[in-house]
Amino acid sequence: MTRPARRTGRTRLAASSLAAAAALALAACAATPADDGRLTVLASFYPLQHVAEAVGGDRVVVTNLTPVGGEPHDLELAPAAVRTVGSADLVVYQSGFQPAVDRAVADARPGRVVDATAVLDAAPGASAAVGGHAEHDGHDHAEDDGHDHGGRDPHFWLDPTQLALLAPAVADALAEADPAGADGYRERADALATSLAGLDTAFTEGLRSCEHRTIVTSHAAFGHLAARYDLEQVSVAGLDPETEPSPARLREVAETVRLSGVTTIFFESSASAKVADVLAAEVGARTAALSPLESLSRAEADAGADYLSVMTANLAALRTGLGCA
Ligand SMILES: [Zn+2]
Repeated sequence: MTRPARRTGRTRLAASSLAAAAALALAACAATPADDGRLTVLASFYPLQHVAEAVGGDRVVVTNLTPVGGEPHDLELAPAAVRTVGSADLVVYQSGFQPAVDRAVADARPGRVVDATAVLDAAPGASAAVGGHAEHDGHDHAEDDGHDHGGRDPHFWLDPTQLALLAPAVADALAEADPAGADGYRERADALATSLAGLDTAFTEGLRSCEHRTIVTSHAAFGHLAARYDLEQVSVAGLDPETEPSPARLREVAETVRLSGVTTIFFESSASAKVADVLAAEVGARTAALSPLESLSRAEADAGADYLSVMTANLAALRTGLGCA
């Protein structure tokens, strides 16, 4: 992510920023130390990084605490990474989703944070957001549930209209840290919201008329997406992808698949593909990849994929798998 240096008029560079820049470089080798006056922004996993980069533009350097291809749910942070949490100009995270990041924010006390959970809880119509206990769909059978999120479905970013709510919050925080860039932050936040609204329209129209409305997935990442586009998620495992599904749960899902006539089992990663393969073979269905966008894979990152392109691929996979007109 090397970008051309840009002079913003903020030339003062404290020793602590130098240390932070060095620590950032250690913590994530892809990061460019912000020794040129750009703001340092830490995002705790990919969709938040995407919003920070889109809104921050070339006035910020964004580092993702979850490495490319990494699993954000059970992220662990090295001490150097925890220190970067304290020294960043802005930390964008989601409380209740990654316990190590919650601890780092509590311990390192960054000067500015945007907490996606708080933003979504405060939004009008927040019952559909991260805090919406009621809409959790009950697939978290006790045996699947080694690590839940207090019953919340954390995967709000798979509903583009919810991800869009973060854009103005990030713009406000950046504008407070860097008033000279305020207009740019707000313009880019508006542009991101517009593109996410376009994606939402594409999903609404693309999934309007389908043979099937049941999406069978390995981990229960798609509850918000299903709620938004009138689909029903049946997940083999719970909200956390690491938990192994029980044989009883597998039998139960296989029965649901047979009864509903579902023809495609969606999987999310090479690890969960095994479960999907077993299930698909048992019921005579196909498998197809559906990204929960918790991280970009190495291949996606190398190909220059981003939130929009992966979601567009998800829409295509859903349309094929569900037989949409
Ligand atoms: Zn997840």
